[in-house]
Amino acid sequence: MKLVGLVGWRGMVGSVLLDRMQQEGDFPLIEPVFFSTSNAGGKAPAQARNESTLQDAYDIDALKRCDIILTAQGGDYTTEVFAKLRATGWNGHWIDAASTLRMKSDAVIVLDPVNLPVIQDALAKGGRNWIGGNCTVSCMLMGVGALYKAGLVEWMSTQTYQAASGGGAQHMRELLTQFGTLNAEVRDLLDDPKSAILEIDRRLLAKQRALTSTETAQFGAPLAGSLIPWIDKDLGVGKNRDDDGWGVSREEWKGGAETNKILGQGEGFALPAVPVDGFCVRVGAMRCHSQALLFKLKKNVPIADIEELIAQDNAWVQVVPNNREDTVRQLTPVAVTGTLNIPVGRLRKMAMGPEYLGAFTIGDQLLWGAAEPLRRMLRILLEA
Ligand code: NAP
Repeated sequence: MKLVGLVGWRGMVGSVLLDRMQQEGDFPLIEPVFFSTSNAGGKAPAQARNESTLQDAYDIDALKRCDIILTAQGGDYTTEVFAKLRATGWNGHWIDAASTLRMKSDAVIVLDPVNLPVIQDALAKGGRNWIGGNCTVSCMLMGVGALYKAGLVEWMSTQTYQAASGGGAQHMRELLTQFGTLNAEVRDLLDDPKSAILEIDRRLLAKQRALTSTETAQFGAPLAGSLIPWIDKDLGVGKNRDDDGWGVSREEWKGGAETNKILGQGEGFALPAVPVDGFCVRVGAMRCHSQALLFKLKKNVPIADIEELIAQDNAWVQVVPNNREDTVRQLTPVAVTGTLNIPVGRLRKMAMGPEYLGAFTIGDQLLWGAAEPLRRMLRILLEA
């Protein structure tokens, strides 16, 4: 039985991962070893069997014992440990949720319902590094990957609406606390049905603008009742405004780079890259990343054929009829959170011409966007 080291299992992604492994019966197939960066020597969680004590996640000798390491601890941890571990000659499989290694030439971005052939090819060539994709990209490809597989996409533009939980546990808490603070500020006016809405609005805005740096520590700006059109680092690529890639955020850059790498196209592959670009926006949703997509297709394909193609692609995608009632019922973060469903709706031809296709899709970024591709990769390795 393979010794599988689990790191980062109590964070947001890690907790969802353990739940899914439990639901899918993964634990009886492995001997788990639980690691911690903060509580070595403590008690391992209930899923532990022979190895019931938490190991030090920075102890290279302890890590080296594992056949497979699955980490959802974060990029700093990967940066600190991965190279040291490989330098000892450790030849095990490394499965990781963090972005640190994603674009390395010896790493595969794993999303098997979309790129199983890419994974199998790398496995056959001795691949050892399996990295989960950016959450927004993985959820998008689970929804509309069929259009790429059919070779229909000339380019795609994304406009995202990303939830607070994309930043981790502390970000969710900050958003909820802000909602509470704002509600408390106007509660007396809300309780009075005769109060003036402009007075509520004025007081609310004053409070939003007065939120302290402690109250906005995670996002750096008020998010409740607002939005933030920048996610992740400022890449500052290019020297001036007219250069390609100037002013792009790292999250937006990932959209193009990772979509193509997952599909096995672009640099290092035989197929050319498809241009993917857009804007990534943080909104006050708790969980699930949503995105409006605009495709330029290579040819005019009837909507019915597009719906059929998307619906047949995998077991989790669901085409939502493009009408008001089905959209407001099925195509919202509240409807999708906690499920593996990937609804794709608002499918329609756009005013620019018959090759321009609009779509809207949502995925729970902690499931298909993080935990699920990792646990499925573990299964692929166990069955190889
Ligand atoms: P997180 O919730 O901040 O957890 C990361 C680690 O923080 C935990 O494993 C834990 O490590 C430590 N920690 C400290 N205080 C904690 C507390 N009160 N509760 C729980 N854990 C605590 O981070 P995450 O959102 O799971 O992200 C982990 C990695 O996955 C990152 O690389 C991230 O970029 C990536 N990712 C995240 C998402 C997402 O939607 N959140 C999606 C895709 C990929 P110890 O037990 O060792 O102390």
